[in-house]
Amino acid sequence: MSSSSHLIIKNGTVITSSHQKKTDILIVDDKIAKIGNFTSDDDDAGIIDASGLLIFPGGVDAHTHMELPVMGIHSSDTFATGTKAALYGGTTTIIDFANQSRMESLNQTLDKWFLKAEGHVYTDYALHLSVTVVNHQTIAELEGIIKHRGVSSFKTFMAYKTMMITDDEIATLMRETSKYGGLVTVHAEDGELIESIIENNISQKNIAPQFHPINRPIVAESNAISRLVNISERENLPIYVVHLSSAEGLNCALNKSNAKIILETCPQYLLLDDSKYLHTDPLEVNKFVMSPPIRPLQNHQHLWKGIADGHIKVVATDHCPFTLEQKKLGLNDFTKVPNGIPGVEHRLEILFSEGYLKGQITLNQLVQVWSTNPARIFGLHPRKGDIVVGADADLVLFDPNIKHTISSKTHHMNVDYSAYEGLDVVGKCQGVMLRGKVAIDCDGVLKINEGYGHYIHRGACVV
Ligand SMILES: [Zn+2]
Repeated sequence: MSSSSHLIIKNGTVITSSHQKKTDILIVDDKIAKIGNFTSDDDDAGIIDASGLLIFPGGVDAHTHMELPVMGIHSSDTFATGTKAALYGGTTTIIDFANQSRMESLNQTLDKWFLKAEGHVYTDYALHLSVTVVNHQTIAELEGIIKHRGVSSFKTFMAYKTMMITDDEIATLMRETSKYGGLVTVHAEDGELIESIIENNISQKNIAPQFHPINRPIVAESNAISRLVNISERENLPIYVVHLSSAEGLNCALNKSNAKIILETCPQYLLLDDSKYLHTDPLEVNKFVMSPPIRPLQNHQHLWKGIADGHIKVVATDHCPFTLEQKKLGLNDFTKVPNGIPGVEHRLEILFSEGYLKGQITLNQLVQVWSTNPARIFGLHPRKGDIVVGADADLVLFDPNIKHTISSKTHHMNVDYSAYEGLDVVGKCQGVMLRGKVAIDCDGVLKINEGYGHYIHRGACVV
């Protein structure tokens, strides 16, 4: 008898980024050991019958903000509560953002984030580093951070006074990180334009939260993306745009074939529209205050098509929840609303129900944006993001027929409202495995302890 543990998942329909096949999966310890139809001669092997279920690779959410410090408060999900909720939705790896404050070095920022996460995370996790100061010290730290600390992607901001850097600094960072396989990502909104609109609105006492989408118009996004197209073309290097929100932004990104703009969008930009900002109750408005704002309805079809056409590579959540009590801080003043919405738990069921079942994307495309592309782009593949021999056995058993309704009454995120309250969806996770261990069983019972999640030292980004 061997000391390794054997588990067979039988009769499920395995969906990858390119294939769909009814087959069995043998898991030995934490890895996928064999894929195919076979009978086991190992009497000790556990067997999970996945008849009628789809099996997806565990999700990779490339954009989360757990315990993010903002204006003296923190986003309401800790690494523990947020990653537990992520697991319930089939996400087995998150990439969270460690944000540099201008007083600290990049290594100090990373130390702070590890302190928050280590020992508390349920999913596996990796970190992006947000760079707000580009100087000699920053540049000197990059090689060690990529090679020795496993952080190969760097976020930059074109908006927000306290975080934004110049286009030249973004270009410098692209050149320097690319030497070691790093990738620069960017919050693409024209900060100067936004600041001038905000100043003007404040001077006219137009400070109700309803002004949020007016402060951050679509043209701010498309301007910023046009600048990035020029930078990418000039430097002959790729750049990754987080949370694309509009059709105009998408068109700008595709404008020049010599530029390489990698696009991410989020469920909120595929499903929610700016009518939410017309509500007369400012607290209702504040539930949906995020940057960039949600856009007019007609943008949705273009973003779905962008996924189907392969132009949008990643759907991440930008999960950044605040409770209603926290959202009340900006009841009468848009400058005081903490920006962000919850969503880490619902990415798969939204992609499946609103995307696949409504004919917007295929199942293979779903897997691409849900798991395989973010894993590949951010240096986690083939360990994560795929169902292949040798990969971590991170798997989602998904029942495509279960109907349910998204609600704050039943979700697992630590926040007292849902951005998708009342949305009826079809399809639900009926079991989640992380590194060969049942993390959520078919009855929805959590089977792993806080801290089971590992830090994943990432390799070079691949674009
Ligand atoms: Zn974000």
